[in-house]
Amino acid sequence: MDKQKWEFPYKWTIIALGALVVLSCGWSLPAAQLDLRFLLLALFTIAGASRITVEIPRITEQISVSDTFIFLIMLLYGGESAVLLAAAEAFVSTLRFSRKPTTVLLNAATMACSTFFTASLLKLGFGTITGLSGQGYSVFTVAVCVMALAQYAVNTSIVAMGLAFRKNISFWQAWSTNYLWSSITYLMGAAVAGFIFMVGLSALILALPIIAIVYYTYDKYLSDIKTTSAQAEQAERERAEAEHARAEAERQRAEIEHERAVQAERHVGELNLHLAEQERISCALQESEEHFRHAAFHDALTGLPNRALLTEKLKAVIERATQHEDYQYALLFLDLDRFKNINDSLGHPIGDQMLIAMARRLEHLVREADTVARLGGDEFAILLDDISQFGDVLNLAERIQEKLTLPFNLSGHEVFSSASIGIAFSSTGYYHPESILRDADTAMYRAKAQGKACHEIFDKTMHARVVDRLKLEYDLRYAVEREEFLVYYQPIVSLDGGKLAGFEALVRWQHPERGLISPTDFVPVAEETGLIVPIGLWVLREACQQLARWQWQSAENRGLLLSVNLSGRQFAQPNLVGDIERILRETHLDPKSLKLEITESVVMENAETAISMLRQLKALGVRLSIDDFGTGYSSLSYLHRFPIDTLKIDRSFVSRMGENGENAEIVRTILTLAHNMGMEVIAEGIEKPEQFSQLKALQCKYGQGYLFSRPVNAEAMEALMASRQQWQPEVSTLTTDFGRPKRSNIQHLRSA
Ligand code: C2E
Ligand code: MG
Ligand code: MG
Repeated sequence: MDKQKWEFPYKWTIIALGALVVLSCGWSLPAAQLDLRFLLLALFTIAGASRITVEIPRITEQISVSDTFIFLIMLLYGGESAVLLAAAEAFVSTLRFSRKPTTVLLNAATMACSTFFTASLLKLGFGTITGLSGQGYSVFTVAVCVMALAQYAVNTSIVAMGLAFRKNISFWQAWSTNYLWSSITYLMGAAVAGFIFMVGLSALILALPIIAIVYYTYDKYLSDIKTTSAQAEQAERERAEAEHARAEAERQRAEIEHERAVQAERHVGELNLHLAEQERISCALQESEEHFRHAAFHDALTGLPNRALLTEKLKAVIERATQHEDYQYALLFLDLDRFKNINDSLGHPIGDQMLIAMARRLEHLVREADTVARLGGDEFAILLDDISQFGDVLNLAERIQEKLTLPFNLSGHEVFSSASIGIAFSSTGYYHPESILRDADTAMYRAKAQGKACHEIFDKTMHARVVDRLKLEYDLRYAVEREEFLVYYQPIVSLDGGKLAGFEALVRWQHPERGLISPTDFVPVAEETGLIVPIGLWVLREACQQLARWQWQSAENRGLLLSVNLSGRQFAQPNLVGDIERILRETHLDPKSLKLEITESVVMENAETAISMLRQLKALGVRLSIDDFGTGYSSLSYLHRFPIDTLKIDRSFVSRMGENGENAEIVRTILTLAHNMGMEVIAEGIEKPEQFSQLKALQCKYGQGYLFSRPVNAEAMEALMASRQQWQPEVSTLTTDFGRPKRSNIQHLRSA
């Protein structure tokens, strides 16, 4: 029979009945009896009591404290109040888990109906509810039991009936599987209510802390039981699994043994085939092991021994040298010059070909017993075993450099290269491979610094220099914290009229022990360590502040331009533009008065990003200048794309200009180029009057050099400005505004 069609009318019948019951109870509610205590109990029941539940171990049912309170209200205030409260409580607590109106209404109606039935039964059986306590303990106890059982029977019956309709099962089936056990919860709820009723509510309130403790302990006890039984179950499962696995392994072993026995019997001939197969596999294994060993100790690109193998070989020669006094060896450390340029301009595949070709050339140059290794990148090392004379080693270094002057032909490109070589001899006395590698590396760096394509032999003073450098680096960190820097200013002169046009700010380090240190000695270290970033910003701020002050002091100074150097490291800072903008704002310096100098190599190294950075700087309103122009590898086709105002011709070209106008060609070319592109030119390093006059004749607009002034401190610069110095090339003794001859130049001012 299809019961499901009854579900809908049944539900609504219950809801209608519930509504009727609630209305009639509301009507006949003895409102006068309801006091503050009732209000508090009702509020507590609706607001939270159903959230507090007490579990009973091994039974899924829970006693909700609200049941107890509904019973209590019934005993204290009669059926009507209990019905209304039960409906309200069910309504609110159902809302907590369901937003479906029918579910909420149905639950409220069910509670109203069952409570109404219970109250009616009590009244029928005992004549009264609120007066039950006066009828003796036994009657009261029976009444409480009737209350619990009636509520239980009706409530669960209504719900079970609905369930039977929905699931199309019999009423008994629905009821017995779901609600048989829950009679306990009703009995307990009623018992507690009866108890409270007897002892009085105030006693309950007094006992609340104790109840809370008991509740908490009980709750804890339950969760302990749960974990313990979960653990026990887990242990049991694991034991069973282990047992199963053991049995399975045993079964497989037996199977294999059986199989073997069968095979041995039937196919004795196949055994040989098996053996041959095994032999082949072990050969292949051996081969691949050798392959792995080779890969671990050789460079994949060139096939040369790598650093690991070189280290092993160094260990061996070090050992041998300690045993045989006259045994000598040497280590050459090679680094290709400008390999990065090849990679960047011709691409990595050509760069790789270059390294391979280099490896083959080196192998050709050494004896069988020597080891050529690649250490990584463009670094190679050669271990020369058992050398008889130092001279042989130097000869080899020279032969390498000679051989490298021959061009490499790489996929149709003719590529020239050179290498810087550092040499360390066993006579220095080594105990660890790292030490000799380090010293040869140090010597190689010295060779690079000497100008490329050189070789250098490591000596102890080199080691001392390395230590010195480390100390410098250490001191420099403190110098930044303590602001041990000074800014010196060197005049930039308008060659035409001989007037001061501006100055370049040049940093100096006032070292507490070593005195004034030149930037050529510490700027490269500051670059490498990144300390140039805070130092550079400090210089910029200091110089901007100084110029703003000078401009404020005299209207004549307003047209002066300040040049400040930017290092490559600073140039790569993403917040450079923001930093400069802030310094200009804070020092109130007009951006037009500031010129930033960036060396040619920094700009050319990464032309595309440089252009974007230069544009951003330009947008601040500052001017831009390329420093040391002519020393880098400027691609002239690029140059016009840079938003540059000024080229500073490097000192090396100016110093070559002779008395008779020789060697002026390059300078002339740069001037023509710059003028065609609308850039101004400053000649650096003017030391002689004839250089001054030649540059002037070539229409070079500005000049800077010891002839005019060495870099001087702010005070001396101020005196120079005040003197209104005008420099003229005709007379090597220079004149002031007043025409009075002045001895040489400003040498008497404090110089750097
Ligand atoms: P630079 O920017 O090319 O500065 C010009 C250098 O040439 C200065 O050296 C200056 O004293 C020197 N010089 C000027 N006229 C003559 C001359 O007639 N003959 C000779 N022989 N030298 C002359 P200084 O002050 O030692 O600075 C060297 C370099 O250090 C600067 O070269 C610049 O690259 C760097 N530097 C200096 N100050 C700073 C700074 O604040 N920040 C950055 N990033 N670098 C700086
Ligand atoms: Mg400069
Ligand atoms: Mg320069």
